[in-house]
Amino acid sequence: MSEPLLPIIQPNDGKPYVAGSRCTQCGHVYVGPREVCAKCTARDAMEPVHLAETGKVWAWTVVHRSFPGVATPFVDVIVDLDDGAHIKGTLVDVDPQAVSADMPVRMVFREAVPAGADKPYLTYLFVPAQGAAA
Ligand SMILES: [Zn+2]
Repeated sequence: MSEPLLPIIQPNDGKPYVAGSRCTQCGHVYVGPREVCAKCTARDAMEPVHLAETGKVWAWTVVHRSFPGVATPFVDVIVDLDDGAHIKGTLVDVDPQAVSADMPVRMVFREAVPAGADKPYLTYLFVPAQGAAA
């Protein structure tokens, strides 16, 4: 059985979060489960954590062509989360021309419906940290 691509956890009675791992030896934080720390090579030293929901844009691109049914343009980003993890995502509720390096962003969870599908799934997105609604 393979691991899910997006380690999004939604407890029955709580707010969803993205699962991560923190090395108890060096403190480095990763997206998803890990058994070995890539930074300090410690084994069996990882503890599960909820990833930070705030961070800053590290890199981005504006996507103008995508799969049928996917609205363009949209902004693909790599975000440096405040806990040190790096995560890829989509930045929404923003003018693509207004995106800049180190722009503060916030993670939100929304349902999305893939083209051709009838059931939504929960995903995380990023929005500008200032003045955005969840
Ligand atoms: Zn480590």
